[in-house]
Amino acid sequence: MSYNSTSRVAEEFISDSEIRKTLAYAEENKNDLELMRKILEKGKKAEGLDFKEAMTLLECEDPQIIEGIFTIAKGIKEKFYGNRIVMFAPLYLSNYCVNGCVYCPYHGQNTNITRKKLTQEEIRQEVIALQDMGHKRLALEAGEDPKMNPLEYILESIETIYSIKHKNGQIRRVNVNIAATTVEDYRKLKEAGIGTYILFQETYNKESYEKLHPTGPKSDYAYHTEAMDRAMEAGLDDVGCGVLYGLENYKYDFVGMLMHAKHLEDTFGVGPHTISVPRIRPADDIDPEEFDNGVPDDVFKRIIAVLRIAVPYTGMIMSTRESMEMRRQALEIGITQISGGSKTSVGGYVEEEAPEDNSAQFDVSDNRTLGEVVDWLIDIGYVPSFCTACYREGRTGDRFMSLLKSGQIANICQPNALMTLTEYLEDYASDETKEKGEKLIAERIATIPSEKVKKITEDYVANIKDGNRDFRF
Ligand code: SF4
Ligand code: SF4
Repeated sequence: MSYNSTSRVAEEFISDSEIRKTLAYAEENKNDLELMRKILEKGKKAEGLDFKEAMTLLECEDPQIIEGIFTIAKGIKEKFYGNRIVMFAPLYLSNYCVNGCVYCPYHGQNTNITRKKLTQEEIRQEVIALQDMGHKRLALEAGEDPKMNPLEYILESIETIYSIKHKNGQIRRVNVNIAATTVEDYRKLKEAGIGTYILFQETYNKESYEKLHPTGPKSDYAYHTEAMDRAMEAGLDDVGCGVLYGLENYKYDFVGMLMHAKHLEDTFGVGPHTISVPRIRPADDIDPEEFDNGVPDDVFKRIIAVLRIAVPYTGMIMSTRESMEMRRQALEIGITQISGGSKTSVGGYVEEEAPEDNSAQFDVSDNRTLGEVVDWLIDIGYVPSFCTACYREGRTGDRFMSLLKSGQIANICQPNALMTLTEYLEDYASDETKEKGEKLIAERIATIPSEKVKKITEDYVANIKDGNRDFRF
């Protein structure tokens, strides 16, 4: 099928022949250093790269060009996101699933794992545990099972989560990662006040997709791939995309991902709000070595850096699937949001699972608590941010993007990060972290360029220390 970025047909906006042509072009031109320098020059302007340019850059093995990629990615990261890192946690509601995804332990045929679905009371307990850690932003996760996890259950759970106010705790943004659904259901999610709707494509290669998803509703490639269009149609204009690196040839999926971003931008005027970069991990019944498309660390870092250059205005998320060291390196070159203290099992925040029970979706590499991650971020020069302001101020979709593109977000994010970090330090941090954090906040407030914003931030921070909460720009 011929390529058409604004078509509403999956195989036209994610065109197999266009991806293959792009891969061949990148392979042919990977030693053309003149071309690489031109692409880097364009990248430096922070206006993005198209998928052909991005893939060509990714294919280049020249050490100087690779160095150039990292330098530009770091520059873009600093310019648009400063040193703020947004924190979140996943919340697994249910691992009942009727799909047959061969890389996921929740697949319907796996009889080894313990199946669990949280009741509303159990959700309350999990949310209180998350609030007591200091989290303000969650990503809801649930398998696809129309009987066990119908949309009504998800909607009720969202309502429960937003309603809980334990001590000074509050979940202010609930992002939702559930199966592809109808426009009508997406509308209901919108009405429920969700933040980002997240759905990973897993792989854009249709043939592989069909092999990896042999049974269940998710086996329908077109329905899955066109899901973000339906979400946008329903008014959910913050959508989060991602592929599971290691399932397919990473180059194919890298191009597919950027093609998807272009489709959303060309069709709806707004690209993905976030891109996640999960790599396949061991789990019950899953051996990553069964998948021979593993992405080595050095290539993975280049993927992140080139993505940062190609889509400068898209938040990039890395989970605790990755080790502390990989997360440290990834933060420098592009990642803007990380999870902390995550449990990937159903009910895992309240109760540690017994070894014989295994309801986790994947093994976590970074096992540190949220407190440890916050402390570490401060030590390595970042401002951990619990900010959820944009969504709550109605700055979503193109309103958010135009603000980000104007560079104005820098004057908003920094004070919001400092205020939400103050809340965290007051309510949840150890004495040692609090001391370091307060010093950092004082230093950072001094760097706010606008005197007016600086003054308001100082006032708000003082107010938070007096016990008030939830200030934002
Ligand atoms: Fe179910 Fe999602 Fe796991 Fe597939 S990846 S088996 S849809 S939980
Ligand atoms: Fe994100 Fe908006 Fe907060 Fe900045 S102000 S950290 S873009 S929610």
